[in-house]
Amino acid sequence: MIVILKKGATEPAINEFVEEVKQKGLGVHISTGVDKTIIGLLGDTSKLVPEDFLANDIVETAERVSAPYKMASRSFHPENTVVCIGTGQSGVIECKIGDGKTVPVIAGPCAVETEDQIMNAAFAVKKAGARILRGGAYKPRTSPYSFQGLGKEGIKLLEKAKKETGLPICTELMAISELKNFENVDLIQVGARNFQNFDLLKELGKFNKPVLLKRGLSGTINELLMSAEYIMANGNENVILCERGIRTYDGYTRNCLDVSAVPYLHKVSHLPVVIDPSHACGIRWMVGTLAQSAVAAGADGLEIEVHCCPEKAWSDASQQLPPSQFEELMIKLGKYAAVEGKTM
Ligand code: PEP
Ligand code: MN
Repeated sequence: MIVILKKGATEPAINEFVEEVKQKGLGVHISTGVDKTIIGLLGDTSKLVPEDFLANDIVETAERVSAPYKMASRSFHPENTVVCIGTGQSGVIECKIGDGKTVPVIAGPCAVETEDQIMNAAFAVKKAGARILRGGAYKPRTSPYSFQGLGKEGIKLLEKAKKETGLPICTELMAISELKNFENVDLIQVGARNFQNFDLLKELGKFNKPVLLKRGLSGTINELLMSAEYIMANGNENVILCERGIRTYDGYTRNCLDVSAVPYLHKVSHLPVVIDPSHACGIRWMVGTLAQSAVAAGADGLEIEVHCCPEKAWSDASQQLPPSQFEELMIKLGKYAAVEGKTM
């Protein structure tokens, strides 16, 4: 249920109201907007009658929210959430995702392979205009015999690349036991295969770092939002949603990019939405076109795989862009972003 307060409701009156709600055994989420304050009631509100709240002078309206996700929903939080990445660290370039003015690109190789490989990729993506460096240190692979990532060593190399380029770093967490190695990671990715690993999501709720939450291979939009809710309900509101293609009946691409996820998620949620065209199609020549469609659909950012020598990549060789193609794409995307009144 949400309770919308009247303009001019005083702080003591709001505090008193919040206390009353808490005494009913409910949680509270307060969203203070420019015009009005909205109080989201969390927990079992089934026995409450919305009209009863009108007895309080500061209440304008009270209504039930039918969506099962609350904190992630736009009715609880009408203004867009802007997630700040790399903020306040000396030497690190800050990046905002969801500001409505920019379309930041998270770019880098599928996996961190060697020091030279990640350093070269880091400088290349920075030169082309990427705002965040990505690279998998813990890799979720279909086959246990495939390269599994360098683990902690991979994180150390990403940290080095961050130090040298100033780019914030994004990498995937697969197990809670590895969270101790993520202190210097700026954006923690939850991959498609872990998007409903609820224990992991709860733990990330308690860890104070922005999270890039990818939609599962066969995950519905509601399931994605409920997974975001897990992180938020546990205390971390810095969640970015990522559409990375879903399984369909047709196999001509690796996955099927659901572009309509962007406008839909923007309608029902205040969280930023990023598109990953690389994993969506799995085909190098198609990545650019999908990235353009994402910008046109209003995506708040992109995640694109870039490798200095894709044909020699240890994973996802067929979809990574060489720096020359990435540079060209960034220039082209800049023009598409301009149509939307944005910069990259
Ligand atoms: C990745 O980003 O490297 C990755 C494995 O993505 P996904 O979880 O979307 O497959
Ligand atoms: Mn990959």
